[in-house]
Amino acid sequence: PLHTPASDRYEHLPYRRAGRSGLDLPAFSFGLWQKFGPDHSYEKRREIVLHAFDLGITHFDNADRYGPPPRGAQKFFGRVLARDLAPHRDELILSTKAGNPIGASPYQKGASRKSLLASLDHSLRDLGTDYVDVFYSHSPDLSTPIEETVGALVSAVQQGKALYAGVSNYLPDRAGEATTLLRDAGVPLLLHQPRYSIFDRRPERNGLLKLAAGEGFGVIVYSPLAQGLLTDKYLIDIPEGARAQASAFLSPDVIDATYRERAAALNKLAGERGQSLAQLALQWVLRRPEVTSALIGASSTGQLDHNLRALDFAPLTGEELALIDEHGVH
Ligand code: NDP
Repeated sequence: PLHTPASDRYEHLPYRRAGRSGLDLPAFSFGLWQKFGPDHSYEKRREIVLHAFDLGITHFDNADRYGPPPRGAQKFFGRVLARDLAPHRDELILSTKAGNPIGASPYQKGASRKSLLASLDHSLRDLGTDYVDVFYSHSPDLSTPIEETVGALVSAVQQGKALYAGVSNYLPDRAGEATTLLRDAGVPLLLHQPRYSIFDRRPERNGLLKLAAGEGFGVIVYSPLAQGLLTDKYLIDIPEGARAQASAFLSPDVIDATYRERAAALNKLAGERGQSLAQLALQWVLRRPEVTSALIGASSTGQLDHNLRALDFAPLTGEELALIDEHGVH
């Protein structure tokens, strides 16, 4: 292997239990959604992933779609796994997802058995591994019977291609149905992956966090920084190369006067606590015991170093939480 991982890598982060499973995840997990395709320097992408591992991030989240283009991020990760991390496969929790569109074929979208299992086999080839740790249905597909989707997740686990099953973006009703069917099949739901941040309170309002606590599955929340909106980077301008300029998933139009006002108020509150807005936002999602891990992205190792210090600050008080509600809710 080309890289020797830091020997103190397990001394930085707390590990939190995923629901009532036996699996612990790092408080911060790393996702390869954007800027991990071939348009970006291999060396830079590799440096970020290996730095994350050196900081104790054992969990890397992928999907067939990530890159861009689709499959780009997994092909990249497979290369790093083969060259640098292969001796540490037992220390890694790798996830992938299927079901969001990745091509024109009717079997490259949706949560049919065909779509999910064909994608998983392809992902295993791209990643160069025999199994992923978590296999997700990426989004609910109301045109496919939930029994068929759950059946595909169960098969993936029974065939040894995944150790655990997950769902993402499911509303509580359908998540509840999936939970019951999976439990009955002997493959309990490990994780739900919803979006959750100071700017997006749906999981606490629609009952998802409550369902998680009741049913015993973990919650790993994505875009806890609202893709960078909950950092200080857009307070004045849109910096060169930032996601709001460079990505199809974050429109510069959202950086308007209302946004700036809200972000400035939250930034001020963070400053009074001696931390940055990014650190406040990450601490905020992890205050909930139902949340197992905050799934973050980063375009530099410096962002990772900075963000992982989010847990070094005093717990948020009731008064501070009320102020965050005042500024954070639309
Ligand atoms: P975040 O909200 O953590 O946004 C990360 C981005 O914010 C970085 O890439 C960077 O963007 C910017 N940033 C991070 N730290 C800082 C900092 N300290 N200062 C300034 N800017 C910063 O999460 P993501 O939206 O990236 O989502 C994380 C992961 O969640 C994804 O990779 C994916 O694995 C998963 N996900 C799952 C989805 C699903 O449907 N299941 C959907 C979306 C995400 P920049 O390039 O501007 O520097």
